[in-house]
Amino acid sequence: TTSTKTRRLAVLGFRAVGKSSLTIRFVDNHFVDSYYPTIESTYTKTVQRPVRHARRGAPTEESFTLEITDTAGQDEYSILSSKHAVGIHGYVFVYSINLQSSFENCKTLRDKILDATGTDWVPCVLVGNKADLVAQRQVTQEAAEELAKSWRCPFFEASAKHDENINESFFALLDLIEEQNNPPPPP
Ligand code: GDP
Repeated sequence: TTSTKTRRLAVLGFRAVGKSSLTIRFVDNHFVDSYYPTIESTYTKTVQRPVRHARRGAPTEESFTLEITDTAGQDEYSILSSKHAVGIHGYVFVYSINLQSSFENCKTLRDKILDATGTDWVPCVLVGNKADLVAQRQVTQEAAEELAKSWRCPFFEASAKHDENINESFFALLDLIEEQNNPPPPP
């Protein structure tokens, strides 16, 4: 038997950017076209990931149970309660590429998380969803890359609808969380 580690993730962003769609695509691998706006739901998915710095003879894969909270959605006035900060290992900040204000909102949300956690950095991934809506693009890739660089986090443009970069986004976040937990051994 192998043990599994639990990692708690929270998906944050403005309403209708596709938080539920992204989460359900990742967890269940399907797309729901008109999903009922969620109050807040938590989904669980178990994934395998290669062990970092595996010792010889030790297992090369490890199992993670991801508990993903798909939040109700926030605007700049939303108060993030401590339940969004306590016990969360990493954050998925979602905007949609066709809505500039949803991108600006991610900056506000991250600031609120930093305030709530009392830290100056949190593991997170920045996701520009609805990448299929290029004709309506309002947020450039460059602006998002720059923001992600300043956050020291990965960035993806994704489409829950077309299943693009969804797994990549969640796994990049898990990688970042695990890097924090297991810094490389000294040379
Ligand atoms: P939430 O409020 O952030 O959880 O957003 P939802 O997941 O409920 O999605 C809001 C709307 O955007 C729904 O009509 C979805 O079908 C649509 N949507 C979600 N993801 C995508 C996507 O990748 N591309 C497109 N074109 N629409 C999407």
